[in-house]
Amino acid sequence: MIKEYHFPSRYELITDTNRSQVLELELKDSTYSLKLAKKIERMGRFGQFRLYNIDILSEQSYFYEHDIFPLMECKVDVSNSKLNWMGNEDNVWSTEYELPLFNNINLKVYPKVKEGKIPRFTDSIASVTIQNCDTKDTINIQGSEIDILYQLVKQIEKINPDFILTEDGDSFTFPYLKYRSEINQVDLILDREGIPLRRSEKDGISYFSYGKIYFKPSAAKLFGRIHIDTYNSFVLNESGLQGLYELARICRLPLHTASRASIGKCMSSLQFYNAMRNDILIPWKPTLAEHPKSLGDLLTADRGGLIFEPTMGVHENVAELDFVSLYPTIMFKKNISAETVICNCCSHSKLRVPELLNYHICEKRRGIVPISLEILLKKRAIYKNKKNSTANPELKKIYDARQTALKWVLVTSFGYLGFNNAKFGRIDAHIAVCAFDRQILLQTIRIAESHGFKILHAIVDSIWIQKKDTINNDYESLKTEIENKTGFPISLEGTYKWIVFVPSKNNTILPVSNRYFGVFEDGTVKMRGIEARRHDTAEFFSNVQQGILNIMSEANSIKEVRD
Ligand SMILES: [Zn+2]
Repeated sequence: MIKEYHFPSRYELITDTNRSQVLELELKDSTYSLKLAKKIERMGRFGQFRLYNIDILSEQSYFYEHDIFPLMECKVDVSNSKLNWMGNEDNVWSTEYELPLFNNINLKVYPKVKEGKIPRFTDSIASVTIQNCDTKDTINIQGSEIDILYQLVKQIEKINPDFILTEDGDSFTFPYLKYRSEINQVDLILDREGIPLRRSEKDGISYFSYGKIYFKPSAAKLFGRIHIDTYNSFVLNESGLQGLYELARICRLPLHTASRASIGKCMSSLQFYNAMRNDILIPWKPTLAEHPKSLGDLLTADRGGLIFEPTMGVHENVAELDFVSLYPTIMFKKNISAETVICNCCSHSKLRVPELLNYHICEKRRGIVPISLEILLKKRAIYKNKKNSTANPELKKIYDARQTALKWVLVTSFGYLGFNNAKFGRIDAHIAVCAFDRQILLQTIRIAESHGFKILHAIVDSIWIQKKDTINNDYESLKTEIENKTGFPISLEGTYKWIVFVPSKNNTILPVSNRYFGVFEDGTVKMRGIEARRHDTAEFFSNVQQGILNIMSEANSIKEVRD
């Protein structure tokens, strides 16, 4: 099982300041690493052997070790027995990389079912459609079931697609095709290596998150091509293929893994890469199911910043200012990471966390979290700029998809800082970020007040301010002053024609944070925390509420809404 062994020196824990000599085992087949790890663990007393870098995908380790990434343009020297990657042509920092022209198809399988019935594996195949994602040309395969299966194999071989997109390939299409091909005794070859479709080794997993039960089916993989299940891909739904390409590159995750990964897993991969480049070992822990979270969930779950309770009721002349990626920017600028907050090496550090007297920050080294965030923050800012300055609609779309994908990783980064499932998570780092956040928001409130604004509401990274008879340049100069004094970028989300902060349902005298609706000067409606936005609201009710809001949004003032 073991090919070679070495005794390199590594940082055993991320918080260690000295390297230790460790035993490194190189395996003949990397897929045995978990098996071997469990065996070693059983050989000693509990905790006698400490194991690292166990549950990292071998593809990921390969990317890290060779400093390469998916979709990288590079030369390969094959003159020796090993592959030698020469990637000077492309760089993970590049924002103008060229991608191959992929041949992508949508695959749909229709079982013979009576109307209104849920399809089952025992239903035979009625037809299959293959659609080219770009040209939308569609091939419809019909006939006897055995003919359909043969035709499907033939067409896939002829088209030779790079990506196969399905709407439920992991949970239905591929397991169903596998089942039907067994019944018909057809070798269903849909990959590039001539290997018939296999049943996936693992069953899917169910997990519980925020009061709902979810099921994550195991991935249906094809050798030599990428299968993406669009129902099972958060990244694809939020930012499309361009966002997926960007994430796979930056986070060094195989494309089929990246498409199914939670954003947290993408973030972790980027941190593992930086840890490995800095000789830090990655602890092995039983990995729990990861929970995909929405932006709203994350902000609510992790609310630890300053909250300035909203002034209830209807208001005019209100503007909203939002800090740009505030939490990740705090982590990046203040060097906040598991190993830098209350570090072991500089207890007399001049870098202190506000309000928390015994919290200091390392002066000697950059943390893995800030190192990992740098590329996300800087590339996102570049893509946003490029999106706003290009006139080419195609490019605009590409830049937007990429910056959206990066935004999601940034949003998740804070939750992961204190998340006990994250390998490099630590609650103190989490607390430090919140302390800086409160200081920045408080400073912002003081600045706005000194300019004659009334503060209506402030939470986490947003502030709502009110002033009658403002002149054009008021907000611009306020923004500049906030940025100069706090050192953090802020943007004007917009000015409202009117905005309503609603009271608590249980107690009508109490205001509730982050529950409001309003209409911007350009007529756009913005709402948070009210029924139309909540997942537990009946669709009918939410539609009615949305309809009423749309009518109200045409009114330019409180008086017009009443009329
Ligand atoms: Zn230190």
